[in-house]
Amino acid sequence: MSAEAPVDEGELVLTERRGAVAVVTMNRPRYRNAQNARMTFALDAAFSAAAADDDVHVIVLAGAGDHFSAGHDIGTPGRDIHKDFARVATQYWPHEDKAGAEAMYVREAELYLGMCRRWRELPKPTIAMVQGACIAGGLMLAWVCDLIVAADDAFFADPVLRMGIPGVEYFAHPFVMSPRLAKEFLFTGERMSAERAERIGMINRVVPRARLVEETLAVADRIAAMPRFGVALAKKAINQAEDRMGMRDVMDATYALHHLAHAHNALTTEDHLAGQDAKSMAKGLK
Ligand code: ZN
Repeated sequence: MSAEAPVDEGELVLTERRGAVAVVTMNRPRYRNAQNARMTFALDAAFSAAAADDDVHVIVLAGAGDHFSAGHDIGTPGRDIHKDFARVATQYWPHEDKAGAEAMYVREAELYLGMCRRWRELPKPTIAMVQGACIAGGLMLAWVCDLIVAADDAFFADPVLRMGIPGVEYFAHPFVMSPRLAKEFLFTGERMSAERAERIGMINRVVPRARLVEETLAVADRIAAMPRFGVALAKKAINQAEDRMGMRDVMDATYALHHLAHAHNALTTEDHLAGQDAKSMAKGLK
């Protein structure tokens, strides 16, 4: 582990109110909004605040700059080595000083799977507003949202199989697309265009890049005008249906496989990511 000094990047998550809509924006555009622990906890705080705010009816999740999210931060100066985040954990003890499989298992249970599940269960409707890259960890952020509106330049990919890992921690793949397409998506790691993502039902609509904010807010405003409790019940009904279809159980089972892969990498390669970092992963992306 490096002993680099903490990097002050300012506010990593911004919240703006647009009428009854809270727009929560990931704000690391320089790093394509790569998700470090500090941003993750800040995102959690922003979602909690929006959920608690009586005047907010709909939450939009956005990414500043040209890209929605490059995924988990595995290579910027502000990645998790600094541990300068406000830790408000709800599931596990601190992972930072733990050894072996425990560190990764506990870390990702808290930061990725646990938080994603909590965000999916927010009582208010959420809309991901996606432009540019939505890669690996970025998929989880979009998939936890109830609706996804994408710009025509958006693309989706989960290339973590190149690390020997069977998909990102929030394993919604066979539920947001067909099992056969999920295999193609994982086995090849190739980009899926917004147009194809809409065709297969993974996202709700594709709009011109220049109209992304306007179109997303129009959808948000329409939902915000509906009875709030009714929307919350409808959301719960669909989420319950997904869970009855096995999504929660599949995610638990796959989380174990995911950590078998991390542990296998740690035992057989230089680290739990099979020696890959943001640079080497980017090289493989077409
Ligand atoms: Zn992982």
